[in-house]
Amino acid sequence: MVVFFCCYSCFHSNSFAEMIKRKQVEPTGQVVWDVATKKKMIALTFDDGPSPTYTPQVLALLKEYNAHATFFQVGDKMERFPYIVRQVVQGGHELGNHSMTHPYENKAGLERMRLEISQADRIIQKYQPNRTKWFRPPGGYIDNALLQEAVKQGYKVVLWSYHQELKDWSMPGAQVMANHVIRNARNGDIILLHDGGGNRSQTIQALKIILPALKQKGYQFVSVSELMESKE
Ligand SMILES: [Zn+2]
Repeated sequence: MVVFFCCYSCFHSNSFAEMIKRKQVEPTGQVVWDVATKKKMIALTFDDGPSPTYTPQVLALLKEYNAHATFFQVGDKMERFPYIVRQVVQGGHELGNHSMTHPYENKAGLERMRLEISQADRIIQKYQPNRTKWFRPPGGYIDNALLQEAVKQGYKVVLWSYHQELKDWSMPGAQVMANHVIRNARNGDIILLHDGGGNRSQTIQALKIILPALKQKGYQFVSVSELMESKE
């Protein structure tokens, strides 16, 4: 059977037979969707950067709200925009591995993904040595073989809270996205956003609404590593 996935949102449609099963892998601690915590903490994650247009805007907003985040960056873009990567790290944020060129595993295959992870890892280690290694598979495509490969390379896999699925890349409107996040916010959420890979102006506008609203509700914005430290 050939199954075509157009986007991230297809990941949890369960139509891809080989996909990892949350119930099976979550207890191993190798894959994180969200975190059980009593602390009012939320992890914002930004994929597909660095972008010279949008990443600095995200960083300025995060700074304004004393927020830390995790940036799942693409290796070849890190090579093109090293000064943006440095800004991310200097802002106290965390880098995650989002492969070297952003291929989807269901098309690229395991051998290619092995290289994609290790090549991006070499770049990340230059900026951020000796930290927890987080991998987010492009498009959310991950089967057990890729999971084991990521683990072999010292990584844990981070997906995202499904109840906070925004599809910001489809540009549904900044207010729509902000309302969704604010209404559904729970302790330990991991929220998937994008600071690269296309027009992210709505994501920026949504952040301008989300950050003050959730701060007012008492939430603190932290990196995935910081969120994991608060795990019950
Ligand atoms: Zn991506």
